[in-house]
Amino acid sequence: MASRICDSVLVTGSNRGIGLEFVRQLVDSPSPPVKIFAGCRAPNGPRSQDLQELAQKHQDVITVVQLDTTSPTSIAEASKLVEAKLEGKGLNLIINNAGVNIPGSLAETGKQEMVDVYTTNVVGPMLIAKDFHHLLCKAAAQFPHQTSMSCRRSAVINVSTLLSSITRCPENFYRSPMYPYRVSKAALNMLTRCLAEDFRKDGILVMSLHPGWVQTEMGGSKAPLTTAESISGMMKVITNLTEKDSGSLLDWEGKNIPW
Ligand code: NDP
Repeated sequence: MASRICDSVLVTGSNRGIGLEFVRQLVDSPSPPVKIFAGCRAPNGPRSQDLQELAQKHQDVITVVQLDTTSPTSIAEASKLVEAKLEGKGLNLIINNAGVNIPGSLAETGKQEMVDVYTTNVVGPMLIAKDFHHLLCKAAAQFPHQTSMSCRRSAVINVSTLLSSITRCPENFYRSPMYPYRVSKAALNMLTRCLAEDFRKDGILVMSLHPGWVQTEMGGSKAPLTTAESISGMMKVITNLTEKDSGSLLDWEGKNIPW
């Protein structure tokens, strides 16, 4: 029997696009997690119907959790709900997937665009790491102290992008300037590095993962990858992460991306 990716996982922004496909592939995996928490900012809204149907089909595994990553109150409430549902156990894995992109040449970008994108793409994952830290620690502590870091034990995956890479910027800047998005995801990568150092002592792995260019509302229809292809690649990467990957930026095929 295939080994389980982890016992419990929270995916943010899981009502559509990459997040929804993550939940779908997790629940359909040969050995699915015992509990999948599907974070979604408007669980009863029209854009959450597909997620609600999936959750209905797998009521014993999927719990839809109201989670607006721009709201500290919503994050704190979600943490309490997840803790109660875990009944004394820890949370193994958080996939910080919720994200926004506002088209952004320099001329199109003002203070509001920068702040809005930063709030969702950086502040949200930071507050989630903070409010769920005790649950990640609890999960890590359920393994013997010497156990290597992994997503099965305890981990945070921040969904980043190739466009965050400062090294690779000259080769792709003119195709997609995206000031707010690029700057926010570069900041998210620094958050990854800081958390990786901070959480190492607790046995919690932290890394950034680029899903490829994917056919979603954000990625658009010209993207070469389907969500199914991207997520099945990322699932393999996630399953095989070890200590050495903490603090890194990898793509959906497991290739290293330079900062
Ligand atoms: P989509 O725009 O298709 O979906 C974004 C998801 O994030 C939606 O579920 C949306 O929910 C949710 N979301 C946005 N803001 C919030 C919030 N404040 N609180 C909770 N949920 C929120 O994007 P993708 O699925 O393509 O992107 C997912 C992640 O992958 C993002 O972090 C993105 O930056 C990254 N990425 C995507 C690439 C691509 O090619 N698609 C390439 C590289 C990275 P709602 O329906 O409520 O708006």
